[in-house]
Amino acid sequence: MICKNIAVNEEGHLTFAGQDTTDLANKYGTPLYLMDEDRIRHNCRVYKKAMLEGFGEGSFPSYAGKAACFKRIYEIMREEDMSVDLVSPGEIYTAYKAGFPMEKAFFHGNNKTDADIIFAIDCGVGCIVIDGMDELTAVQTIAASRGMQQNVLLRLTPGIDPHTYEAVATGKVDSKFGVAIETGQADAFVNAALACNSLCVLGYHCHVGSQVFDDADDVYVDSADVMLTFAKKMHEKFGYAPQILDIGGGYGVRYTENDPTVDIAASIRKVADHIRRLCDEKGLPMPNVIMEPGRSIVADAGMTLYTAGTVKEITGYKNYLSVDGGMTDNPRYALYGSEYTVYIANKMAHKADFLCDLVGRCCESGDVIQPDVTVPMPERGDIVAVCTTGAYNYSMASNYNRVARPPVVMLSNGKNYVAVRRETLDDLLLNDL
Ligand SMILES: *Cc1c(COP(=O)(O)O)cnc(C)c1O
Repeated sequence: MICKNIAVNEEGHLTFAGQDTTDLANKYGTPLYLMDEDRIRHNCRVYKKAMLEGFGEGSFPSYAGKAACFKRIYEIMREEDMSVDLVSPGEIYTAYKAGFPMEKAFFHGNNKTDADIIFAIDCGVGCIVIDGMDELTAVQTIAASRGMQQNVLLRLTPGIDPHTYEAVATGKVDSKFGVAIETGQADAFVNAALACNSLCVLGYHCHVGSQVFDDADDVYVDSADVMLTFAKKMHEKFGYAPQILDIGGGYGVRYTENDPTVDIAASIRKVADHIRRLCDEKGLPMPNVIMEPGRSIVADAGMTLYTAGTVKEITGYKNYLSVDGGMTDNPRYALYGSEYTVYIANKMAHKADFLCDLVGRCCESGDVIQPDVTVPMPERGDIVAVCTTGAYNYSMASNYNRVARPPVVMLSNGKNYVAVRRETLDDLLLNDL
């Protein structure tokens, strides 16, 4: 199985977090998002421990909430003593209403409006990650008008290509995010930030990309090289050394058997050794390091269940298996061609010999969850499971075709409970006057 929390029981049914998925589908209906709470907590602890051991006291992971955002997640993050990254008033409000300690929240984004900045400050967000010159002025002006000091990080673009899918690469020079180091614009950015008397510049931020595998540690090592070389230059020019170096998110997860397993603890150890050595060489104090995992905290904690509907065989051409969800609950194949592992949950003991495209119910030929999957011969009423859907599925879900969004059911310790209820048809009309 592609993940440790997935197995098959004596009845030949797929289990997730030790629970029979066909029972869960019966109890809650489909489509259904499942989330393994114990796995989320485990993933948080792997990062926390590795970062503390590798980088030392004061270094920590900050969960990128955009991967899966609902109140219960932020309660879990509070209980696990995690920091969080938030990117919109909606995410800020969700964490705030969940009772998350907002001083441990970072506010990100390439285009924060004045209203967003004011909202973040009103909610007590601990640190704003400033994306550019105009935002620097906006945050300084707002903080000054309140007579306060706002903690900030400066987002820089290190000019590194993480060899991942184009749409999730964010650290290249021509990115819409951050201020480029290569062009010299970052020098002026730092100079201007240091002159802002209502801002406390804690350090630098960069984020190179997502779903990073290929020598995952190399990507972080390379960006640390660029960031610390820049830090050294700024130290010489302005006498400023960062207290925090935030190296972003992005370790990859296994969507299929072909994906490697990243040893996160070992990789963090390598990155930590490298940063320590670089700081020694450059005569810079070792900064506190922040990493921002999103996907690798929640992806393998998720699974989506559907009910099989129409099975269409076009003789001599291809086959389709249609389910009761689709691009509305999982747009990732349509967006980035993402790969997934698919099972028929009630036929795990059957031979998989039926090649088909797993498609959704939307009026859109691009509504494909996964092409070319091989499963046992499906029938109407079978339960179809798509694995590793904990990240960027619920958070990217839409109501296209006025399809109601599925509930999120959490699994923990052999028990299950609803964290997000199923949308009703009336929910869909809530904003219609
Ligand atoms: C999306 C994002 C992350 C999380 O990336 P993952 O691939 O989900 O780990 C971290 N930091 C920033 C700034 C991001 O935009």
